[in-house]
Amino acid sequence: MHSLDPADWSELRALGHRMIDDMVDHLATLRDGPVWRPMPEALRRDLRQPLPQEPAAAAAVYEDFRRLVQPYATGNLHPRFMGWVHGGGNPVGMLAELLAAGLNANLGGRDHAPIEVERQVIAWAAEMLGFPADASGVLVTGTSIANLIGVLVARSACLGPAVRREGVSGSRLVAYTSAAAHGCLPQAMDMAGLGRDALRMIPFDQHGRMRIDALTRRIARDRALGLRPFLIAGTAGTVDIGAVDDLAALADVAARESLWFHIDAAYGAMAMLAPSLRPLLAGIERADSVAFDFHKWAQVPYDAGCIMVRDAASQVATFGAEAAYLRREQRGLAGGGIWPCDLGPDLSRSFRALKVWMTLRVYGARRLGEVVRQSCDLAAALAARVDREPALQRLAPVTLNIVCFRYIAADGDLDRLNAEIVADVQEAGIAAPSTTTVNGALAIRAAIVNHRTTCADIDILVDAILECGRRRARAGRQNKVPPVIHRGQVYREASRLGDVGANDPLPAPGAGTRAALLP
Ligand SMILES: *Cc1c(COP(=O)(O)O)cnc(C)c1O
Repeated sequence: MHSLDPADWSELRALGHRMIDDMVDHLATLRDGPVWRPMPEALRRDLRQPLPQEPAAAAAVYEDFRRLVQPYATGNLHPRFMGWVHGGGNPVGMLAELLAAGLNANLGGRDHAPIEVERQVIAWAAEMLGFPADASGVLVTGTSIANLIGVLVARSACLGPAVRREGVSGSRLVAYTSAAAHGCLPQAMDMAGLGRDALRMIPFDQHGRMRIDALTRRIARDRALGLRPFLIAGTAGTVDIGAVDDLAALADVAARESLWFHIDAAYGAMAMLAPSLRPLLAGIERADSVAFDFHKWAQVPYDAGCIMVRDAASQVATFGAEAAYLRREQRGLAGGGIWPCDLGPDLSRSFRALKVWMTLRVYGARRLGEVVRQSCDLAAALAARVDREPALQRLAPVTLNIVCFRYIAADGDLDRLNAEIVADVQEAGIAAPSTTTVNGALAIRAAIVNHRTTCADIDILVDAILECGRRRARAGRQNKVPPVIHRGQVYREASRLGDVGANDPLPAPGAGTRAALLP
């Protein structure tokens, strides 16, 4: 009587078809629109409503999605979204989400095909990293949680299973990572009950890599103080400048000192798919655990993180219920060997494996590797353009796909000027770089992650930054508010450079795209 299914399915079916048509149109034309636009206050108010008591037509609610939500999303699908390290998603992954929700599988455990799909994805991850075939792993929301799981497995590998009952008080455990490491690593130490202070932030060299000499000195000093070093966390692809630690050297130190070797390879892990970049990550195959995301450089829709552990027994020893070992014998739906809930803290889990599995099947590892290499080539092109422009100054070496630079003006507060330029470019909808701090200077940071980005997009970004910088510098001299920049103006400037047809200020969707992920 109270089933939520419709009596007549035809209306729902038609709405579903329309949604797919609309989203495909959205993907096919997103290049024409702004990267991002702020959500107007009036629409934010429209969204806020008391708990709905009465039913509403699905079509009407969908209209609200079209009006209130879709136009004001983050913009990370757009080829000129270059802020932070956001993935661009892909059309096949989008459809996979529909299928996964259709099955509504719970991936915590039991014996069913969706879990076999996740096991297959984990086996592919092991292959990609050069891990043994019997390594274990589990999909999680993202690398933040994957790093936490890595810290917890390392902790119980050091203290033994008793830590699960007794806790860590008085254990005096200390861990090591680069001062350039992501903030989720200190947070993981905090959540693991070890405290942020127990994570030694080791200085890095001019390439942004953790200094091995400083690391070994700090380990010796901590041992002399009676502390208990247990973990080195390397980084493959730092969030600020994309640096890769010397993973082989870290593996050597970890082996010599009998420490757990974990790697935060949030986006960098995908460089393993590009033969020309793989040597940068040499040593990753020696890690005890690796945390990474499919939702960044592998373009799988959010969210899809992964933790891989070389020795499956240590992961099960950290999270497994006692019943975990009995399930191999069990018959029926409750059987099926080690369940994902024995490999991490989640019990109920979504079928995020499906969008990873379909993305890898449809595009293949080689093509995804080409997307990764293309991002690095574009970053190199951006760095070269920055180096050629007298008004721009590069602030960090480019290892992978991140370029940090700033606009130089004769006078004034350069940090403030560059922060304003970034906000101008974002608010104009032209591009979305972000900012970071490099050696104390505020940098414009462009992280090239999106498979849709082309050389023309790189030039549009630089042209927009130069134009905003000139306007701000001029207005500053005259003590005026700088004029707002509009999207069309920069496209016209780019067209003069020959990247976009002169009579075609708004580039056609997909124009010049080399490896956009269209099936
Ligand atoms: C993005 C990122 C993280 C955090 O990953 P989430 O998936 O956002 O949780 C951690 N480390 C590095 C180096 C990252 O780039």
